[in-house]
Amino acid sequence: MVTVWPRRLALVVAPVHGESFASWVDRMALRNACPPWAMVEALGLDVATSSDVRSLAYGVVAMPETCRAIEAATGVSSEVVRGMHLEVFDGSVLDLAGVRVGDKESVRRAEGREWVQFFGSRVCPTCLVASGGVWLAWWKLGWAAVCPTHRTLLVDLCPRCRVSVRRGPAGQPARLSRSRMPAPLRCGALLSGVVCDQPIPQISTGVVSDKLADQQQLVLAVATRRRSALIAGQVVSASQWFAVLKATALLIRLGVPEVLPLLDTTLDGQGALAAEAGGQRWNRAGSVGRFGMAPRTALVAAGLLAVALEVAAAESESELVARLMPLAAAGRMQWKQRRPDLLTLVALPSVFTAALDAVLGGQARRQ
Ligand SMILES: [Zn+2]
Ligand SMILES: [Zn+2]
Repeated sequence: MVTVWPRRLALVVAPVHGESFASWVDRMALRNACPPWAMVEALGLDVATSSDVRSLAYGVVAMPETCRAIEAATGVSSEVVRGMHLEVFDGSVLDLAGVRVGDKESVRRAEGREWVQFFGSRVCPTCLVASGGVWLAWWKLGWAAVCPTHRTLLVDLCPRCRVSVRRGPAGQPARLSRSRMPAPLRCGALLSGVVCDQPIPQISTGVVSDKLADQQQLVLAVATRRRSALIAGQVVSASQWFAVLKATALLIRLGVPEVLPLLDTTLDGQGALAAEAGGQRWNRAGSVGRFGMAPRTALVAAGLLAVALEVAAAESESELVARLMPLAAAGRMQWKQRRPDLLTLVALPSVFTAALDAVLGGQARRQ
């Protein structure tokens, strides 16, 4: 096959550290005065075959030849291009194994399983305005709850249209527009064909505790492998660390409402957790199922994060057991005899399964 490199573009916007690929393409499109579809084509992505963002695994994974084509077109190195994709979190906070460009179903499967919004995002309005419209890749993570810099809750719902900012039509990811210019500082959600133009910098959000901001910082440091991951004083892999966080989140959700007074979270956070679990009561006694789904809102994420990081911060095995005990006790009141299998979904480190066995009476793992 003959490789046809895209033409070198004259106007290039430098990517900002941590910026998402979609954000960079939008800013490139604005600089080049063309809609995103044309921009993506000029960068060398195969939009002629399919411009469906799922099929392109847009912003999720990038093929090496695509990165090289973008480098040829823009001078931005392949490594930096790859670094704007969610695959930088693969093997730590995300498992993107099996996700392939051109295989829409593989993208859909991972979307349902992983704690991430492939095509949506939360946002810190203050960061967004300070950067002139740069959207950070980590805002897409299910564990994205607060801005560690501004110590505020991230925004997910738009106060004007009441749906998630940047959401496409009816829950589908927005297509790459052939006609509309991107507006990085606006909500951009699509409702009945109308784009919501709420200015994001005008959306107000709540202040969070310094402790929660530090916990978010730690999550990001482990996700990007800048910090080693510890559970009960033992070094574990980043993916095992996040598995512990997820399993703890499951335990918390299963224990609603009994668990709520035990949580070191705001009343708002408790309410959000109760509302989320309430909507899924039908599934409580069955398999873990939807209790393993990504937190719906930043507020729910904040509540789960605060407690899960308390558990992860235990410095010894006995301390870990002591921190899990009240959560397990609350959960037990809800699930009664039909105990859900906590350990089927995630690869937990043995120090954590041992602690779970201790608090759940040696039956945490289904034989
Ligand atoms: Zn911020
Ligand atoms: Zn809106």
